[in-house]
Amino acid sequence: MTAPEVWRIARENARLVGYRCTQCGWVAFPERKRVCKRCRAAPADFEEVKLKPYGQVLSYVVQHRLPAGFETPLPLAVVELADGPRVYGHLVECAPEDVEVGMEVEADLRVMYEENGARVYSYKFRPRSLEPSRGGS
Ligand SMILES: [Zn+2]
Repeated sequence: MTAPEVWRIARENARLVGYRCTQCGWVAFPERKRVCKRCRAAPADFEEVKLKPYGQVLSYVVQHRLPAGFETPLPLAVVELADGPRVYGHLVECAPEDVEVGMEVEADLRVMYEENGARVYSYKFRPRSLEPSRGGS
């Protein structure tokens, strides 16, 4: 992978841009694929879509032993976004004992770490505040 490509992916990852298969609707994230994983279209025709910045916790772990610089215990979750892709991220603004499978969370762009003076951003997830007017699931 070339450096410009790494930066493009990092940028799109931060913006939550996915690629929807025009044949079956499966969404690839964070990279555009050549072949659709669901319908096997090859080459697949993907259209760029802005993903909804929320989803549900599919599974999680609470890390207790990490290198210096990390605050522990640190909950990490696999989140299934509303549009389908599954992503891995830190859970913030939530006590580890309050994390549950199925919990509604929203993505939040945060500084992950600093490297050579440059801030590296990525999203983290925090509990989603649901408005009372929100219907359905
Ligand atoms: Zn497809």
